[in-house]
Amino acid sequence: MENYTEIRTAVTKLCARFDGPYWRALDRDRAYPTEFVQALTDEGWLGALIPEKFGGAGLPLSAGAAILEEIHASGGNAGACHAQMYTMGTLLRHGSEAQKEAYLPGIASGELRLQAFGVTEPSSGTDTSALRTTARRDGDHYVINGQKIWTSRAEHSDLMILLARTSPPEPKRTSGLSVFLVDMRGQPEGLTIQPIRTMMNHATTQVFFDDLRVPATNLIGEEGRGFHYIMSGMNAERILIAAECIGDAHWLIDRAAAYASERVVFGRPIGQNQGIQFPIAKAYANMRAADLMVKEALRLYEAGETPGAEANMAKMLAADASNEAANVAIQTHGGAGFAEDYDIERKFRETRLYQVAPISTNLILSYLAEHVLGLPRSY
Ligand SMILES: Cc1cc2nc3c(=O)[nH]c(=O)nc-3n(C[C@H](O)[C@H](O)[C@H](O)COP(=O)(O)OP(=O)(O)OC[C@H]3O[C@@H](n4cnc5c(N)ncnc54)[C@H](O)[C@@H]3O)c2cc1C
Repeated sequence: MENYTEIRTAVTKLCARFDGPYWRALDRDRAYPTEFVQALTDEGWLGALIPEKFGGAGLPLSAGAAILEEIHASGGNAGACHAQMYTMGTLLRHGSEAQKEAYLPGIASGELRLQAFGVTEPSSGTDTSALRTTARRDGDHYVINGQKIWTSRAEHSDLMILLARTSPPEPKRTSGLSVFLVDMRGQPEGLTIQPIRTMMNHATTQVFFDDLRVPATNLIGEEGRGFHYIMSGMNAERILIAAECIGDAHWLIDRAAAYASERVVFGRPIGQNQGIQFPIAKAYANMRAADLMVKEALRLYEAGETPGAEANMAKMLAADASNEAANVAIQTHGGAGFAEDYDIERKFRETRLYQVAPISTNLILSYLAEHVLGLPRSY
């Protein structure tokens, strides 16, 4: 598989302009990395996966994974904008030609930001099909009522991909859900966005819909098939997030090894002790193994298959690898691991998210148990 050396070098060079103090200051204020996102946009990285005919770079998923991995391996965080790269997939795969022509060129150039994805609700995170937000047809509009939670980047997005119920859950629980492209520009009446302060800087929000009117032309695909449309993008999302975890693990392991070599205790570098070396070496081996699974998922995806098992395993193993690397890095740094100036505690907080979102480890294990091992469905 292509390594995208040139892309990696260019992204690393861009990221060098956004160093530890940059991310630290934003983290302290829970502020949005506007300059960083603008720089990525200007160089066209966020439009990497959009076909050339719509103004994007038309690159394969593995190139997107390389871009996101390098951002994280540089100590940065793509969470503020990674969805600009892949949320458009729902529109690209299931939208009409008119919708694609109307929106994709603007998304490719960055003029239009589509990086809000409204699926999770207060009473339905893991259990998506239980969602309660409704969209009722009224003439040439749909009227949306309900609430979403953890809708990340909604305040920094022009458009939102929204999953809402248009008819009862029949014949299946996943029936009757539909996807809409909601235009949030100009703060339309009936839409309220409230930020949620979290343990890391993630620009996440809760969104309230109170008779929000959305033109019927913004329904994506067929009414009632929304669950299927949303699910069809999950493998790509999981693989890309896994690549970010690999980047985090790289950065944390590099930092741990560097600190272990220079920190002298009892008259010698702490890295001379096997009690310090071995956990770092083990984290490295686990990162490399997880990376192989990411590459396998990419290979199958790009061969036109639907690698549900591999994408899920890649996400789980990579998230475990970055979590392990974060633990090892903080332990290796001793007290310094807790000081903001080293950035280790920031990355420790940031990479912890991937045990839960966008899909939790338990749900991946349930998927493997049921769909790969043939065990009874547990929920
Ligand atoms: C910072 C952040 C950003 C996010 N961004 C977005 C976003 O942009 N858009 C969006 O739609 N969502 C987003 N999410 C939501 C995220 O996808 C959900 O938090 C996640 O899917 C878990 O849902 P939940 O929080 O409701 O947990 P719950 O469903 O309440 O589950 C709680 C715990 O129980 C476990 N659990 C539940 N059922 C079972 C079972 N049957 N067996 C075993 N374990 C089980 C889960 O694994 C989890 O650990 C974000 C979340 C966070 C924290």
